[in-house]
Amino acid sequence: MTNNTPVWTHTNFALDYDDTYTRDPDLWLDWVKRALEKGHTVKVVTMRYQYEGVTMDSRLLELVEVIFTERKAKRIFAKLKGYNVDVWIDDRPDFIVGDALL
Ligand SMILES: [Mg+2]
Repeated sequence: MTNNTPVWTHTNFALDYDDTYTRDPDLWLDWVKRALEKGHTVKVVTMRYQYEGVTMDSRLLELVEVIFTERKAKRIFAKLKGYNVDVWIDDRPDFIVGDALL
């Protein structure tokens, strides 16, 4: 790098599943593997219920833990589960701070 932007040695990433991971699973699988190789932590944080996990990509589930928020706002739910997210990757950032309409 040619500037003074600091490079973080460890980041907790939250990767959304529906309409984020599912847009290009192969791309995200490569990204997850690379992130893990570099020492970062990646967890899927989804508004799905746990029983809805059966339809999720098993290749991804072999690599990372999934936090199922059951339609609850993601940020507070993840924090209560002990996962302090540094970077969110999500097609619906409103769901990070707000519950889904039921
Ligand atoms: Mg989504």
